[in-house]
Amino acid sequence: MKIAFFDAKPYDKPSFDAYGAQNGIQYKYFDTKLTEDTVELAHGYDGVCVFVNDTVNDVIIDRLAEMGVTIVALRCAGFNNVDMKYAFGKVHVLRVPAYSPYAVAEHTMALLLTSIRRIHKAYIRTRDFNFSLAGMTGFDLHGKTVGVIGTGKIGRVFINICRGFGMQVLAYDKFPAPDLADGESIRYVELDELFRKSDIISLHCPLTEETYHVIDEQSLNKCKKGVVILNTSRGALVDAEALLAGIKSRKVGAACLDVYEEESDLFFEDYSGHILDDDVLARLISMPNVIVTSHQAFLTEEALSNIAQTTTQNIVQMARTGECPNELCYRGDGAADCKSGKCF
Ligand code: NAD
Repeated sequence: MKIAFFDAKPYDKPSFDAYGAQNGIQYKYFDTKLTEDTVELAHGYDGVCVFVNDTVNDVIIDRLAEMGVTIVALRCAGFNNVDMKYAFGKVHVLRVPAYSPYAVAEHTMALLLTSIRRIHKAYIRTRDFNFSLAGMTGFDLHGKTVGVIGTGKIGRVFINICRGFGMQVLAYDKFPAPDLADGESIRYVELDELFRKSDIISLHCPLTEETYHVIDEQSLNKCKKGVVILNTSRGALVDAEALLAGIKSRKVGAACLDVYEEESDLFFEDYSGHILDDDVLARLISMPNVIVTSHQAFLTEEALSNIAQTTTQNIVQMARTGECPNELCYRGDGAADCKSGKCF
C-alpha cells in the first residue's frame, strides 16, 4: 500500500519507515501540509497520513473521495481539524487515541516548574555568569490547588503527578470518572468553583464547540489573582487576547502554552529571522512569565514509536478487513470512536 504522508518532519521518518516496512506500507513523505492546494499530491495513493495542523475540510474530503483515496489516518488523538460530519460515508478517518499520556502530562509539569521556579531565566543568567537571585523567587507547589479540566488519559496522569507534589486537585469533566475522585485530595466540582479556587489551571479536554475559549475574559475574571494557566491541549481552548490582557493586568501570574489558537501557520517551522505578523503571540512570548513551546508535548521517543505503530496498524486493519477499532464516526451527537466498524 502507498500512503501520502503530509507535514512530514525528520523525526517522523525512522519509526514510520520501520513499521511501514514490517507491514508492507510505503510512506511517501511530503514536507507540505495537506491543504486545498496540495491535496492533488495524494493522487494515486491509497490513503493520506496527517497531523494536527493539516486541513481535512469538505473540499479536501470531496477531492480525496473523487481520487479514490478513502483512508485518512490521523497520527494524533485530536481530530478538531477534520470535518467529521462531512467525512461520514466518504472517507474512513482513523486516529491514534492514545500513544503516551505520560509524554504530554510530564511536559505540562515541566512547563509549570520551569515557569514558577524561573528555570528559563536562571539558564540564561548563569550562562552569562550572572549569579544574582534577584527576581527569582518562586512558590511551592505543595499545598496548592490545581484545577484540571478534562480527566481523560492525559488529565489523569497529570493529576497523579500533581498528587506526588502534595497538591489538592479540583477536577472538571463533562463525563466525570467515578473512580477518580477520593473526596479529599481530588474532588469533581463545577467549572465556576474550579475557576474561583484554583491556583493553577491545566487544560486536558478536547477542543469542541463547548470547550472553545473555555479560558476567556469571563472565566479569567472569576479566577484568583496570580492564577497560572497551563494549556498543552488545543490552542483555541484559550482566548489568546483575553489571556494577554490578563497578563498585562497582572490577574494571570503565568501562562505555559504548548498550543496556540493560530499555531497552524507557525508551529513546527523555523521563523527565526522573519518578522512575526501575529502581534498577540509576539507580545505573549515577550512576557517574562509566559513560556511557549511549539506543540512539543507529544515529542518523546516512546510516543513517536507508539504513534507510528498504531497508525500503521490502523491502516493495515482498515485495508484488510474494512474495519478498525480506531475509526472515528460522526453519529449525530458528534464524533466518537466507532464501535461497529461499519460506518462507511
Ligand atoms: P481523552 O479523550 O482521554 O480525555 C479527554 C477528556 O476530556 C475526557 O475525559 C472527556 O470526557 C473530557 N471532555 C470532553 N468534553 C469535555 C468538556 N466539554 N468539558 C470538560 N471535559 C470534557 O484525551 P487525552 O488523550 O487525555 O487528550 C486530551 C487532549 O490533549 C486531546 O484532546 C488533545 O487535544 C490534547 N493533546 C495534546 C498533545 C500535545 O502534543 N500538546 C498531544 C496529545 C493530545
